[in-house]
Amino acid sequence: MRDGVHAPVGGEPGARTAVVGGGVMGASLARAFARAGHAVTWWAQELGDAASGVPVALLNPYRGRSGRAHPDDLAALRVTWRWAAELRAAGLASGAHRSGVLRLADGPRQARAFAKVPGLRPLAGDALPLPFRSAHGGAWAADGGWIDPRAWLAALAADAEACGATRERQRIAALERADARRWRLIAEGGGSSLHDRVFLATGAAAWPAGWVRALDGPPAFERLAGDVFPTRLPAPSVPLAGASYVGPVVDGGCVATAAIGGHHRPPGPAPDDAARRLVATLSWAWPALAEAGVHGDAAWWGVRAHGEGNRPQLREVAPGAWWVGALAGRGFLAAAAVAEAAVTTVAAR
Ligand SMILES: Cc1cc2nc3c(=O)[nH]c(=O)nc-3n(C[C@H](O)[C@H](O)[C@H](O)COP(=O)(O)OP(=O)(O)OC[C@H]3O[C@@H](n4cnc5c(N)ncnc54)[C@H](O)[C@@H]3O)c2cc1C
Repeated sequence: MRDGVHAPVGGEPGARTAVVGGGVMGASLARAFARAGHAVTWWAQELGDAASGVPVALLNPYRGRSGRAHPDDLAALRVTWRWAAELRAAGLASGAHRSGVLRLADGPRQARAFAKVPGLRPLAGDALPLPFRSAHGGAWAADGGWIDPRAWLAALAADAEACGATRERQRIAALERADARRWRLIAEGGGSSLHDRVFLATGAAAWPAGWVRALDGPPAFERLAGDVFPTRLPAPSVPLAGASYVGPVVDGGCVATAAIGGHHRPPGPAPDDAARRLVATLSWAWPALAEAGVHGDAAWWGVRAHGEGNRPQLREVAPGAWWVGALAGRGFLAAAAVAEAAVTTVAAR
């Protein structure tokens, strides 16, 4: 059947929703729409094949030098913890850990700035959790934490499918208007399907020419790459958040080692000195790192999309076609709330 890679998955055929993308945004949209009772077809060839394959994702709304939190990020964090509880209640291993996160002050000025932020508890230098140190102390965000991205994506996918979403393991080559009301999605493998609404959660990927013709143009966003290196050290009991960060990495279901990440740079593989620079940036706060070093050959790098005002975007790029992304360095923090906002926006139509 040319127009129908799959049979309709129930509900009003005119209300069929398509989600494109196997990252945290696509998985969150598929789950949110399926749980809200929509008939969802989710196009995701692989899970976590792009930025969402990051080895560890910190959940930290207290960002930048000041440590101030955007109200939307605080609200998003609450939604993410609610989703983690729902996934657990459904018997799924969410991979989410409400451990809290640590920020370190690199000078008295930053320590004073942290002390003014609601939600951050100031810590003196001698009260910092091991193995971290800073003569200027730091701040503790009890509501932060971290996620094992592979487990989170698998749990979202399982819940979405349990709620009736149909996953198609294919990429989309083109998207065109089928008629005044519906969109036709054409898979790279040749099949196609019709949808009333399409949500494009394609991260920092460039859009195929076929999409650009059908839509108002590709969304404008900046692409920034970053690197994560597994270290030879056991994971610390708390993750360290900041422009350069330390988080636990799960291997075979167990917390294995610590990974260090950071460095915003142009897209492409990590430069030769990326690991050395990251170790230098972090070893003042974690001295053992300078001795232990990293597993350079197991480096991961990814490209994230930063949009206008560095805020997530939920934008209608043609009637019934939405671009959802630009999650920047907080995709795992923001995606659940953005997905719920998408459901609410559609319901208000
Ligand atoms: C170094 C680094 C560290 C990070 N650390 C954190 C952190 O600590 N905490 C945090 O919350 N976030 C972190 N992030 C950010 C987070 O990884 C991203 O915000 C998030 O993964 C973006 O998710 P996404 O679903 O929008 O995009 P992606 O994960 O990039 O997914 C896009 C998906 O779209 C698919 N796609 C593209 N084109 C097509 C097509 N034509 N047809 C079908 N599918 C298509 C891709 O295959 C992919 O599956 C970090 C990112 C990097 C790079």
